[in-house]
Amino acid sequence: MTRRVALIGKPLRRRHSQVMHDAAFAAAGIDARYELMEIEPNAVERIIAEAHGPDWLGLGVTAPYKRIVAEMCDEVEPAATAIGAVNNVVRTTDGRLIGFNSDAPGFRAGVELAMDAPLEGLEIVVAGAGGAAHAVVYACLAAGALRVTIGNRTASSAMSLAARFEGLHAGSVVGVGLDDASFVSALGSARLAVNATTVGMVDPGVTMDVQALPSNATVFDLVYVPPETPLLRTARARGLRAANGSEMLIHQAAIAFERWTGVGGMAEVMRSAVAALLADAAAPA
Ligand code: NAP
Repeated sequence: MTRRVALIGKPLRRRHSQVMHDAAFAAAGIDARYELMEIEPNAVERIIAEAHGPDWLGLGVTAPYKRIVAEMCDEVEPAATAIGAVNNVVRTTDGRLIGFNSDAPGFRAGVELAMDAPLEGLEIVVAGAGGAAHAVVYACLAAGALRVTIGNRTASSAMSLAARFEGLHAGSVVGVGLDDASFVSALGSARLAVNATTVGMVDPGVTMDVQALPSNATVFDLVYVPPETPLLRTARARGLRAANGSEMLIHQAAIAFERWTGVGGMAEVMRSAVAALLADAAAPA
């Protein structure tokens, strides 16, 4: 029996996940395939019902279904509940569906690799307050960051995100507008600056003034299409450490793969498989 994993979302423009997971299934000798399912909202419930069946290993979930799927799982892991988003589902051997979030641990793995240092004890600025920013802020605080300053174009969303995590961990968290003076001053003492917006992918420009960062700061942009955003280009021109979101993408996929199959250590296989797509500056954003 060929086992199945499907990525559900709408629209689905990218093949990165499919390429990584199919390469890992082949390398691990597992008879399974990863399908892209661009579905309408009224089809989500049917797919979830189907995914209880024995031929399924689980699901990948992307926008706009990360919240709705959480409500349809038999169980949601605490971290995914805290973040407010399920981006993967694993089917247990007794047919239960468990929702989890691999973006947070994927981000942590990717960013710690980029910094060559742990998140613990750091002052961090995060631009953005959407789905990805929720996972990023959670990961930073859960890893023991000292202070996280969230700046968002819509300041109220940054404040809501900060309020969501306030007091849950030892580190402090504050949400402000992207152009607020306190965001600009937080840049001055940040060891890590994260772009978790779509700026650089969808809209041109940058979300923060790289010149305001200290010289030992790392700039991490979740965007991986295009491979080098204006933010990363400016950071590198200043001599700062800088990395895009490709290692986060690879690590979150490897984490999900291990949950579905029990087979770990697939990051290198996935990295090789997706390298050409990641290098393609003309790939769809
Ligand atoms: P989202 O939920 O739609 O959030 C979008 C965010 O971008 C919001 O904070 C929004 O601010 C901000 N934004 C949009 N246009 C802006 C502009 N012109 N100026 C300033 N801010 C703007 O998206 P998401 O799911 O969080 O994804 C964010 C990015 O992360 C995407 O590029 C996505 O590809 C990337 N991502 C990467 C990985 C990875 O593995 N590397 C994983 C997940 C996501 P407002 O609230 O003001 O609208």
